Amino acid sequence: MTHSSAQSDAPTKTNLLQPGKTIGIVGGGQLGRMLTREVRRMGYRAVIFTDEYPPSPAGQLADREINAPYYDPEATAEFVREIDVATLEFENIPAEFLTAVAQRVPVYPSQHALTICQNREKEKNFLRNHSIPHADFRVVDSGVSLGTAVDELGLPCILKTAAFGYDGKGQRKITQAEDWDTVWREFGASRGVVEQWIDYQCEVSVVCARSIAGDISHFPLAENIHVNQILDTTIVPARCTDGELEKKAQALATEIAVALDFVGTFCVELFIAQDGTLLVNEMAPRPHNSGHFTIDACRTNQFEQQLRAVAGLPLGDPALQSGVVMKNLLGDLWLSPTEAPDWSSVLAEPNTKLHLYGKRVGRPGRKMGHFCVLGEPETALKTADRLFTELLAQRRS
Ligand code: ATP
Ligand code: MG
Repeated sequence: MTHSSAQSDAPTKTNLLQPGKTIGIVGGGQLGRMLTREVRRMGYRAVIFTDEYPPSPAGQLADREINAPYYDPEATAEFVREIDVATLEFENIPAEFLTAVAQRVPVYPSQHALTICQNREKEKNFLRNHSIPHADFRVVDSGVSLGTAVDELGLPCILKTAAFGYDGKGQRKITQAEDWDTVWREFGASRGVVEQWIDYQCEVSVVCARSIAGDISHFPLAENIHVNQILDTTIVPARCTDGELEKKAQALATEIAVALDFVGTFCVELFIAQDGTLLVNEMAPRPHNSGHFTIDACRTNQFEQQLRAVAGLPLGDPALQSGVVMKNLLGDLWLSPTEAPDWSSVLAEPNTKLHLYGKRVGRPGRKMGHFCVLGEPETALKTADRLFTELLAQRRS
């Protein structure tokens, strides 16, 4: 990490950023928005850098947003002049931009951690090199190597792009022998990873935070249900596990965070295989959709932990205050691209908290908001499903 001498009050092991200082947030989406809310609540300033048009979901709540391409040197200089530390809300940030920012202010997490988490090939190799359990995989770059990988791993398996995948984009399940040259050409990526298909019992995630001093704090294990490879529901406490498995998952997350020398909030997604073993699916170097429940159900939420970590503060208490079910609200529920559903039924439920991200246009698959139902998970799940079905019915009526 390069610090300029002008940044003498930058966070170090012995020096923290007090409220009043400015947190730079790279990215303008909903994760940046929820981070911004915590930043301002605690008396810090928030400045967003995004290549989106204003007002971005995060920019709507921030003190300032800078809207420019990531290669714009003047906008980058303006950003670093305003801020005391930088953090991020998405991982596909051009390396040149972060390098330029890191020359003037500390950036957490580090470029090194980001480089590994933003590329599936590097991420899988990292897991293999650190003997962290994961689904067997092969790296492919042609129809021939794809055919060999499928032969070695067996069917079914799943082909994923090495770079720029999210919400299941750039993925293709392979269930039978095909013409591999055609599959590879149509897939359209220059490099990919083929993974063994895991017939899992359940998907879970661990969100944790690591401070500059190296302290680590974990949120409780979350059970995740995906629909069309996009997170649909998170249930906490997870039903499909016991305390033992939770400890193991948290230990794996700690091992990864320490090996990456990670600072900030971090998420590890895992599969619980049929025989009960844990396999790491992927890592996110930032707060995660499966950690949104922490806002309504934990004493400290994943965004406050991110702020605390990057500002050099001690981490907060992550204790769960209530069972909770989080349900994602995608643009598929919108009545037209600009017309949101009527929220009356959600708003009428006293134990339910609605979160909307300030996005003007609802497109299929786009994350527009979420709600959390607090309470014992089985009951909360019934309420969440009923509310969701009612929202969906508006679309169909
Ligand atoms: P995101 O970053 O939004 O979590 P992504 O595009 O990086 O998504 P993955 O997490 O790799 O994608 O996969 C999305 C979902 O697809 C997983 O949560 C899981 O439900 C399913 N999936 C992915 N890989 C496998 C696998 N090897 N076996 C079984 N299911 C899988
Ligand atoms: Mg994932």
